[in-house]
Amino acid sequence: MDRTWNNCRNDFPLLQEKVNDEPLVYLDNAATTQKPRSVIQASTDFYEHFNANIYRGVHTLSQRATAAYEAVRREAAEFIGAKSSAEIVFTKGTTDSLNMVAFGWALHRLGPGDEIAVSPAEHHSNLVPWQQVAKLTGAHLVYLPLADDGQLDLGLARVLIDDRTKLVALAQVTNVLGTIVPIKEVAKIAHQHGAKIVVDGAQAAGHLPVDVQDLDADFYAFSGHKMLAQTGVGVLYGKYDLLEQLTPFEFGGEMIDSVGLDEATFKEPPLKFEAGTQNISGVLSLGAAINYLLAIGQEEIARREQELTQDLLKQLTGLSGVTVYGPKIGTPRGPIVSFNLDGVHPHDLATALDLQGIAIRAGHHCAQPLLAWLGCSATARASLALYNNEEDLAALVKGVENAKEFFAHGLGKIE
Ligand code: PMP
Repeated sequence: MDRTWNNCRNDFPLLQEKVNDEPLVYLDNAATTQKPRSVIQASTDFYEHFNANIYRGVHTLSQRATAAYEAVRREAAEFIGAKSSAEIVFTKGTTDSLNMVAFGWALHRLGPGDEIAVSPAEHHSNLVPWQQVAKLTGAHLVYLPLADDGQLDLGLARVLIDDRTKLVALAQVTNVLGTIVPIKEVAKIAHQHGAKIVVDGAQAAGHLPVDVQDLDADFYAFSGHKMLAQTGVGVLYGKYDLLEQLTPFEFGGEMIDSVGLDEATFKEPPLKFEAGTQNISGVLSLGAAINYLLAIGQEEIARREQELTQDLLKQLTGLSGVTVYGPKIGTPRGPIVSFNLDGVHPHDLATALDLQGIAIRAGHHCAQPLLAWLGCSATARASLALYNNEEDLAALVKGVENAKEFFAHGLGKIE
């Protein structure tokens, strides 16, 4: 198995780079992952061999591009267990997908007295659109509390989700603590009260097997670039009857059925949500990423990342002066570990690690309410992907120890 993982590492050209004269240790995967050669090749092949606009031409290249684009819609549907490819809308990414639901669905259905349930652990992308919808409709945001370890308190969710709740919006894997949210259970509660559930899958897709039918998610959003594909492409899944209720929030070419001087009619979903020329090479790269992940196996990837994450948790927790946030060791979580080093600002820590070739994230991670809940303004965050290995973890731990030494004595060069 180790051989497979090390082979897979060789598929990612950027991982062979040096940064600050050190071999790169890339641990910022929750921000964006690196890309395997097959993904890069999918875009290159398109531009070298069949670049044309989709749907619009009877000529061969256009037909070939359209067929390839639509094939990815089917692959994406299978990848997340959708009933049909008609439930897959290509978007720019998770943020775009969530805004589509907020302004195309919730805005038209919510009113004063209605409630939108979120958690304090949401990424701003799954919070700010709901704040805006609440302001515009008179609905209220209700925060489902977290337990002491940062996991969603399901018992309190059961109490707070009631007949006033019209929408529940939660990440499946949170982006600071990596907590795995029991979406299936929350969906059941939401549905008992006639509410819909929209799931932010940005940190889940590509890390855990996702089955939207098993979760009974009404909407599910994810980004290609966090699961090996290019930036600027993502998916909004919606149950077909909900997509039929969704109002497009972009209008223009290709999404119309017919246009008169004063009126227009629109295509059926999903095409009515894909106005204008789409990110064709991005979609093709998403197809290549899905195929890459499936060739290894979603369960295998989840298992491998879980092992490494627990190992990293153990190692960081064992370092004096390091505070690790989130559920205790042994609790399954996404491959994300946030921590702080006593007396060192996370930005300084990240800079010290960068000098050693190690890329992590520092800051509020677009989750300011969660940081307030943790009682700090910033954390350092290491996040893993399938190509990380034990040496990466050892490099990070050594890097943190070096930084600790450096900041304690203010002497010497970090290397
Ligand atoms: N939700 C979560 C949980 C995320 O981690 C991110 C990306 N940091 C987003 C939403 C937004 O994704 P994107 O920037 O690709 O739209």
